[in-house]
Amino acid sequence: MKDPYQVLGVERSATADDIKAAFRKQAMKHHPDRNADDPHAAQRFKELNAAYQILSDPQKRAAFDRFGPAGFRPGGPGGPFGGGVSVDFADLNLDGLFGELLDALGIKVGDRGDIQTDLSLTFEEAAFGAKKTITYDRIAHCDTCGGGGAKPGTRTRTCGTCNGRGKTRQAQGVFPIPIDRPCQACGARGRVPESPCSDCTGTGLRRKKEELEIDVPPGVDNGSSKRIDGMGHRVRNRKAGTLQVTFRVKSHPFFRRAGDDIVCTLPITFAQAALGDEVEIPTLDGKGRMRIPAGTQPGTSLRIRGKGIPKKIMGGRGDQLVDVQVEVPTQLTDPQKELIQRLADELGESVQPQRRTFVDKLKDLFN
Ligand SMILES: [Zn+2]
Ligand SMILES: [Zn+2]
Repeated sequence: MKDPYQVLGVERSATADDIKAAFRKQAMKHHPDRNADDPHAAQRFKELNAAYQILSDPQKRAAFDRFGPAGFRPGGPGGPFGGGVSVDFADLNLDGLFGELLDALGIKVGDRGDIQTDLSLTFEEAAFGAKKTITYDRIAHCDTCGGGGAKPGTRTRTCGTCNGRGKTRQAQGVFPIPIDRPCQACGARGRVPESPCSDCTGTGLRRKKEELEIDVPPGVDNGSSKRIDGMGHRVRNRKAGTLQVTFRVKSHPFFRRAGDDIVCTLPITFAQAALGDEVEIPTLDGKGRMRIPAGTQPGTSLRIRGKGIPKKIMGGRGDQLVDVQVEVPTQLTDPQKELIQRLADELGESVQPQRRTFVDKLKDLFN
């Protein structure tokens, strides 16, 4: 037996997530169907499964850490190891051929019927939450026949292809051993309708347009999502998959988001910066007013408390940050230039703290 840490290429200190990630990566790489000319691929894949089987189970992992391979001999503390391999492939995205290989290993996978859809939100809807209606297509039970596939009022009979077993035995795929596959003729139900439902041609499934109200919680981020169980496709003989709704938040003409805070830029004049002023400012709650203190420097960020995004966990709201941008006038007339020159002469450098420090440092540098 090989060291499962070596097989997966992880450290002994690897976390459960590290192990899962390593397994996923290796499983994709050594997938025998992608290494058709390598006869050892299937063996390597089995070893990967065995290694993951041990390291993903805290008890088995502890047994291996303590006893090494001895822990997995029949009769050992962690053993007997082997037999039906059951790996949690729930979040692996596997294609059909790969699924066949896993079937041969006794692992159950298949299309879980999950659907992904986007929901577009305005900045305000994302901030405060909203009720939105989405429409999408999914495969669902046929209402006419209740999913049974038989024309209402008619009967079903035993499937001739699988003799009612619901599965057929086939010697195909990567392993030269016969494996059970769901019967295609009856959709693994074991029975076929005598006279198929005309609305679903006997499949029991139909594509339907769904309309669903989505409760958007306050403070959702662009790209975050909500999962709704049972609203995905219904795959035969399984419960319906999950609908994943991903929120796409439109950009705002004034605001951008920084965590629970929102940030906007406010252009002000030199006079407003020097003398102070009270100005009108957009907030998420409508028009607001803000005081600019006298002597505000360019690049200053003023804070309006409680005007940001509602906080998901702590309650309350983030802040609105206002980045002050002092605009320098352009296209001056001659009299305006004269006035500014007179102001400059009057001010000198004495009232400009940053400038004075800068000039002092400059003198030090060259003396
Ligand atoms: Zn039907
Ligand atoms: Zn059948």
